[in-house]
Amino acid sequence: MSTLLSVPAALAAVLARAEPLPSEDVPLEAAAGRILAAPVASLVDLPPFPSSSMDGYAVRAGDLPAMLPVVDRSAAGRPASRRLEPGEAIEISTGAVVPEGADTVVPVERVEVDADEISISESVVQGDNVRRRAGDVGAGDRILAAGVVLTPARIGAAAACGLETVGVHRLPRVTILVTGTELRRPGALLEPGQIYESNGIMLEAVLRESGAVVERLAAAEDTEQALEQALERALTADVVVTSGGVSVGPHDLVRRVEARLGVEEVFWGVAMRPGKPLAFGVRGQTLVFGLPGNPVSSLVGSLLFVRPALLALQGHPDPAPPFRPGTLMHELRPRPERDDFVRARIAWSEAGPVLDPILGQESHMIVHTTAADALVHVPRGTDPLAAGARVEYLLL
Ligand code: AMP
Ligand code: MG
Repeated sequence: MSTLLSVPAALAAVLARAEPLPSEDVPLEAAAGRILAAPVASLVDLPPFPSSSMDGYAVRAGDLPAMLPVVDRSAAGRPASRRLEPGEAIEISTGAVVPEGADTVVPVERVEVDADEISISESVVQGDNVRRRAGDVGAGDRILAAGVVLTPARIGAAAACGLETVGVHRLPRVTILVTGTELRRPGALLEPGQIYESNGIMLEAVLRESGAVVERLAAAEDTEQALEQALERALTADVVVTSGGVSVGPHDLVRRVEARLGVEEVFWGVAMRPGKPLAFGVRGQTLVFGLPGNPVSSLVGSLLFVRPALLALQGHPDPAPPFRPGTLMHELRPRPERDDFVRARIAWSEAGPVLDPILGQESHMIVHTTAADALVHVPRGTDPLAAGARVEYLLL
């Protein structure tokens, strides 16, 4: 037991080996959710010209109040053909160029129109309703820093500044290999002793949501030969995620075969429940995760360690699992030697989220787990956590 790594130490060991992948240029269309590898600067002043924020009339504020002849028109994309001289007005639409000579736009609602003349009965503040050239950003100015996630607003900003492509960290290629002679794919008939293989598709869902480009191999039997063949192929990816075969039984061969293939084990065994026999190693730049086969253990291990690694490979500034504060609905007894990750429902109270552990906390109970909204972190310890105690939870 004392050789088990703590959960934070295990995460630190993983993240220390998850360097951001090299950069690639992608079109903005494909950039949502990606992480910038280099800062982005604007190619233009934005707005590129003084532009009107209203439909109305471009004037000189100093001329008002007054009756003014309307001498031209400036529409969005079709500027006026002449400058504005003192004592004149030019009709203007939102987003159109404010003509030279004009300093202010009077909204149409505040103007009386009579054929080719307008009258404006009040004075206005100079500059009203004119968006200054470069008022948002100047050409050459940095608009986005390296390491930021490309949210919709940031993609819009890059397009507004004239960019077609951005440099982002490459997405990790991940190969999933489930192991176990007992596994059959859904749709097949189960022979005695067999079960349906469910970790592969579940892990694929976690990894895809985390940005990975996923390849899933056929389930491998618990023989050294089958494992070696499959792992050799898997190890060409940026990340390998296996399930099963990392415990202490005679058929748990994954670590042995990996060692033979040159994987250096960084750790095996984390002081947590579920998911204790989790293994992590590296071969060259490839990160190799061995998740235990029990479905809930696989799920928890993927959320606590694999997802953060995938985010770090993409250059994410804060890849650790996003635990949030909540309170316990009932007393919980921690385990003395292992951090518990308890599946719970979230009930919302005025004071915030209240966590109500579900029935069925055993690590094979994937169906019971579907009732849970969250994983509650119960750090190892001796004193019970009272109802109402502050805890941290991760959304499932
Ligand atoms: P293992 O970690 O290989 O000892 O497997 C632990 C438990 O998880 C056993 O009951 C396995 O049958 C089960 N298991 C292993 N792999 C899978 C899988 N891919 N899908 C569903 N159950 C699995
Ligand atoms: Mg097995």
